[in-house]
Amino acid sequence: MLEQEKELREQICLICKMMYERGYIGGPAGNVSARLSEDLVLITPSIPFKQLLKPEEILVVNMQGNKQESNHEAVKNLKPTSELFMHLEIYHQRPDVRGVVHAHPTYCVALSSAGILMNTGVLTEGMIFLGSVPTAEFGTPTTHELVDSISTLIPTHDAMLLSHHGALTVGKSPLDAYARMEVLEQVAQVQLVVEQLGGLKRLSIPQIQRILDVRKKMGMALSSDDELLSS
Ligand SMILES: [Zn+2]
Repeated sequence: MLEQEKELREQICLICKMMYERGYIGGPAGNVSARLSEDLVLITPSIPFKQLLKPEEILVVNMQGNKQESNHEAVKNLKPTSELFMHLEIYHQRPDVRGVVHAHPTYCVALSSAGILMNTGVLTEGMIFLGSVPTAEFGTPTTHELVDSISTLIPTHDAMLLSHHGALTVGKSPLDAYARMEVLEQVAQVQLVVEQLGGLKRLSIPQIQRILDVRKKMGMALSSDDELLSS
């Protein structure tokens, strides 16, 4: 196994542990993937308790979703996550994305279920690392509906909420995508407290513009960033 693959497998296991420790996943929830090559993707299997996942249990699939043969006994009876095609849709549309994380963080789910749009304007790091965060229309988990619900949003966003379900983030690596998930959940939490304290005191347009300039300098700008200036 190449060093790069070994590192990505370890990164995915570490992310599953961190997500569990922070309460972003429980029971069978959550899935993580990494782009391994032009045609191959590493992805978590459909098993409960992802925090116990071992590097050798992570599956390799091709871009059509077919599980690749492995000599490892540990993966013989494992199936890829039921959200496999949501991950593949992202890699098909975004060659720049090398890692995808999906979880059910409490505050993100709560916002989406209450029908409240996320406003990253409550936290500078939110604006810098996430930009504008939409909520994907409801799509039944495990079905193509969920793939359809994210497919028009993914070209212009690195993070989104999934209605009544959870959150999805992408990045240059699985860890990069996971870092966004932590910022996303913090924004959701801060937003709720801000609402309780009387609502957001918006920064001025020039202030937001300067924050977006920082984001651009860091190489994270997306065409949807302008939405922050009007939200
Ligand atoms: Zn889910």
